[in-house]
Amino acid sequence: MSKEAILEKIREYQKIMLFRHVRVDGDCVGATKGLKEILRLSYPDKEIYLIDNEHSEYLAFLGPDDPDVPDEVYREALGIVIDTASVKRISNPKYALCKELIKLDHHINIEPYGDVSWVEDWRSSACEMIAAFYDAFRGELKINKDAATYIYTGMVTDSGRFRYEGVNGDTMRMAGLMLDQGIDLETLYSQLTLKDFESLRLKAHVYEHMDVTAHGVASIYIGLETQRRFDISFEEACSAISWLEGIKGCLCWLAFIECEDGSIRVRLRSRFMTVNELAEKYNGGGHACASGATVYSQEEAQALLQDADDSIKEYKETHEGWL
Ligand code: AMP
Repeated sequence: MSKEAILEKIREYQKIMLFRHVRVDGDCVGATKGLKEILRLSYPDKEIYLIDNEHSEYLAFLGPDDPDVPDEVYREALGIVIDTASVKRISNPKYALCKELIKLDHHINIEPYGDVSWVEDWRSSACEMIAAFYDAFRGELKINKDAATYIYTGMVTDSGRFRYEGVNGDTMRMAGLMLDQGIDLETLYSQLTLKDFESLRLKAHVYEHMDVTAHGVASIYIGLETQRRFDISFEEACSAISWLEGIKGCLCWLAFIECEDGSIRVRLRSRFMTVNELAEKYNGGGHACASGATVYSQEEAQALLQDADDSIKEYKETHEGWL
């Protein structure tokens, strides 16, 4: 299936609802808000809804979503699920009421779903796909500065500021198209990067308490007690993963964040080697070098860490040129 099939469906429906994944990030928020704005501008007579129960403090600057609507509206609508590899990760469960469903995603397609799907797992972000969608049908689709800002936000956050694998000439051409709309980059990067002074204390804690395994897995465990002591949100605790990046020889780094229900969210990142199979073994999945998983006990967390150490050992023994 392709983006042409998606445009056909969009033309067909009067009501369109956009969905994204749980534990929102810049990409799924930017892509849904960006597409919503493009559709609103391009088809002023259609009703476009973006309804989600989850809110993210650090993305609040992108503005609120829509209030919920009666189930009847869902039943008449085309649902477009963006940036979500599997149905169990769709944040608004009412997606299931939609008359037809589209999957638009850039994750490895381990679980195809929906009546129409467009999956390009080599894309650096779902936002890049939304930009490409706009580009392909520029005669019919319209864009403005707000839509471009949403989309650009997802492109920069999901690609590690255009650094990760998957970034190519097309990414930059799509980013250029968005920049042509006059995005205020100073404000955008300030929104994305400025920290409260207090949060630096957590960073110091992470560097003091992180571990490195025998073969080079860097990891940090942030339990509920630590989250309370530093008075940080779950989201802030999760952002600790980025501080473990960039240690020589540590090709894989993990953050274990305890959730209120006792389960432990695991964020996995790597360079050179891949981590998505490891995440899949522990109730998760994702991209080759950026995945997420969930474990339910300290023993399971230890087992994951051991598996990561084994993978790194094997990688280092069988490859050259890693750093
Ligand atoms: P995270 O560390 O949660 O930001 O996840 C990194 C990447 O893996 C993101 O692109 C997520 O969409 C994806 N991911 C996280 N958790 C899961 C999961 N349980 N199943 C599939 N993909 C996931």
